[in-house]
Amino acid sequence: MIPITSVRFGAEEEELVLQVLRSGSIAQGPMVKRLEDEFASLIGVRHAIAVNNGTTALVAALEVLDLEPGDEVVTTPFTFVATLNAILEAGATATFADIHEDDFNIDAASVASNITSRTRVLMPVHLYGQMADMDPLTEIATANGLRILEDSAQSHGATYKGRSAGSFGLGTFSFYATKNLTTGEGGMITTDDDALADRLRVLRNQGMRERYVYEVAGHNYRLTDLQAAIALPQLARYDATVGTRRANAERLIAGLASVPGVVVPQQYEDRQHVWHQFTVRITEQSGLTRDEFVSKLQEAGVGAGVYYPKLLFDYDAYRNHPRVISTDVPVAKRVASEVVSLPVHNALTDDDVSTIIEAVTNIVGGA
Ligand SMILES: *Cc1c(COP(=O)(O)O)cnc(C)c1O
Repeated sequence: MIPITSVRFGAEEEELVLQVLRSGSIAQGPMVKRLEDEFASLIGVRHAIAVNNGTTALVAALEVLDLEPGDEVVTTPFTFVATLNAILEAGATATFADIHEDDFNIDAASVASNITSRTRVLMPVHLYGQMADMDPLTEIATANGLRILEDSAQSHGATYKGRSAGSFGLGTFSFYATKNLTTGEGGMITTDDDALADRLRVLRNQGMRERYVYEVAGHNYRLTDLQAAIALPQLARYDATVGTRRANAERLIAGLASVPGVVVPQQYEDRQHVWHQFTVRITEQSGLTRDEFVSKLQEAGVGAGVYYPKLLFDYDAYRNHPRVISTDVPVAKRVASEVVSLPVHNALTDDDVSTIIEAVTNIVGGA
């Protein structure tokens, strides 16, 4: 079976983790500081603040935007549940805009029609490793006085017109086990704003500026040096990691582009994709439903993932939630029934990529 993700570490990670273990200081310390500095430089921002996961990164980022009850955050319904959970945990109300079928990301025109007098934050999610179309989104945010918070959990190092995900306002990242960079659990917040960065550092550490001097009611959102030690070597070779993912993606695109009913991911000249996922759409023309396609893939020994099978507001947990405002989003609704992600990770061999292409071609050809 070719797995949909594969997590592997090298001698550098082992070495650095041992160094932390032997130092006897395993909580937040110098390794976390190094990771913050190096991550800030990857993204091209003044500040990176490490936290314990990508969800708390979102919660903390929302908290420093000083939202009032009833204030709305407009985002995409086609994302991982953490995006919505963070909005709710921060006490805000979630509203939703539709997406583009070509890049799977939030559609600026739909954002514009969902802005109300209570909208305060625009939260694009850069899905699968590719950024949303930021120019029209930035324009709308500016015209309506909205803050931009980019959920970049899947898009470490992705760019749009040369600017990185997480550099348009506040950005958040996840280092969960399956993400492009991982510490098992972990997260990061990025910003150029000195004052927000300062508040975030205080907020993640119990609201404490110095020992027992509490400025705000805070959290324990700290990352540990043990975790940072796992991330530093991955960061050092991240260009190569993305290069391998990109090469795999290029081969998959070339091999699958002419298969009827399989729509390969769209690339844009001015956006650098970091290929967290390689996601195709299985349309009617394939003669198969998405779920039939996925089970045949499994039979052929190819692991596949469906990210995400339903829109968030279509789950019972949120359907009647007073702070979850559902809207009509026809594109997102259809796309959620069509998407399948195929393996694109670094551990794939050339043979694996050939096997994936053959399996998809045979399954659709035999339908
Ligand atoms: C993974 C992810 C998160 C949450 O990150 P965790 O580290 O798992 O808390 C948030 N948003 C998106 C889009 C994600 O993919």
